[in-house]
Amino acid sequence: MKNICILGSTGSVGKSVLEVIDNLKSKFQVFALSCDKNIQILSQQIEQFKPKYVCITDPVAAKKFDSENKYNGTLLIGTDGLKTLASHPEVDILLNSLVGTIGLHSTILAIKNKKRVAIANKETLVAYGKIIMQEVSKNNATLLPVDSEHSAIHQCLAKSNSPVRRIILTASGGPFLHKSITPDITPEETLKHPVWKMGKKITIDSATLMNKGLEVIEASVLFDIPASKIEVVIHPQSIIHSAVEFIDGSIIAQLSSPDMKLPIQYALTYPERYTASIKSLDFEKIKELNFEKPDFEKFPCLRLAYESAEIGGTMPCVLNSANEVAVQSFLIHKIRITQIPEIVGKVMKKHSETTNTLQFIKNPSLSQIEKAEEWAKGEAKNVINNYKCCNSF
Ligand code: MG
Repeated sequence: MKNICILGSTGSVGKSVLEVIDNLKSKFQVFALSCDKNIQILSQQIEQFKPKYVCITDPVAAKKFDSENKYNGTLLIGTDGLKTLASHPEVDILLNSLVGTIGLHSTILAIKNKKRVAIANKETLVAYGKIIMQEVSKNNATLLPVDSEHSAIHQCLAKSNSPVRRIILTASGGPFLHKSITPDITPEETLKHPVWKMGKKITIDSATLMNKGLEVIEASVLFDIPASKIEVVIHPQSIIHSAVEFIDGSIIAQLSSPDMKLPIQYALTYPERYTASIKSLDFEKIKELNFEKPDFEKFPCLRLAYESAEIGGTMPCVLNSANEVAVQSFLIHKIRITQIPEIVGKVMKKHSETTNTLQFIKNPSLSQIEKAEEWAKGEAKNVINNYKCCNSF
């Protein structure tokens, strides 16, 4: 029986993780859960899975939870609580499905404590990927991606040492694939994703294709391959989750019905596979699989992500941090969707200028990346504040 700690259990991935565990009760048990504010869902999850520990990162929500609930286990509060869980001797697997870079230190602690880390927290990998992967090899730890594309690539590579010609990273294309992106598009319209039902941040990122850009960086880090060898292909049906082309021209792809429970289960059970409730693909019903090139003019976020991957160092962190701020501002109607790439591009440009207060660093330490993150978030807020008027809609 393996003990699992789920960071971010009330989010969309976290809920799917619990469904997977519920289906594999004889193999896995929930040891700890964490959420930020969503104590209502957390309470339901506690009732069903009876974890020994819970951590609530928002102190106000934690207080409310404590006064309203008779929880028998241990309640931890704040990001220190996440760290306690990540290094807890009874935890075998840490599943990090937090949004943003808040999960960084718990990920590193879990790696140092030689736990299996299943990572759905792509922002952490984008900004701090090199450092995380260094820790993984230093500690001989196991880190498995939960992101469907990266799980697919992991499955295609399957311990092969054969040289890779390129990675084909598929993208559904999001809600604006065949629609123009105009400034009047609201966050509400953008949140309607055609294939995947996900959290708000990632759904907006999918619409701007920043999500795919972040995934290019993520793949580059996880599989130690330059971004120039990673090709994004739009594939609206989301049946092929990604593919690997080896140097002899042979392409191995991973296919399945689009269901997050599959990459989650793979990350928990690898190298073994267990029965799952994922629907079988009916090839006769599929009829066609379509592919097209992404439009880099229409989706400047994807271009910016490639640029940042090529530059490396602190730049992917700057791209990611500026994007986090821009997306949050878009969600509260403070900026327009077309301003997201504008903001990210401006902050990246400033970071590359030699006169800038916080200079670009090619081989940064963890604390230097943290400084770059803070700087980029502040810069993005400055850019947004400079838009002055007439943005509310
Ligand atoms: Mg993905």
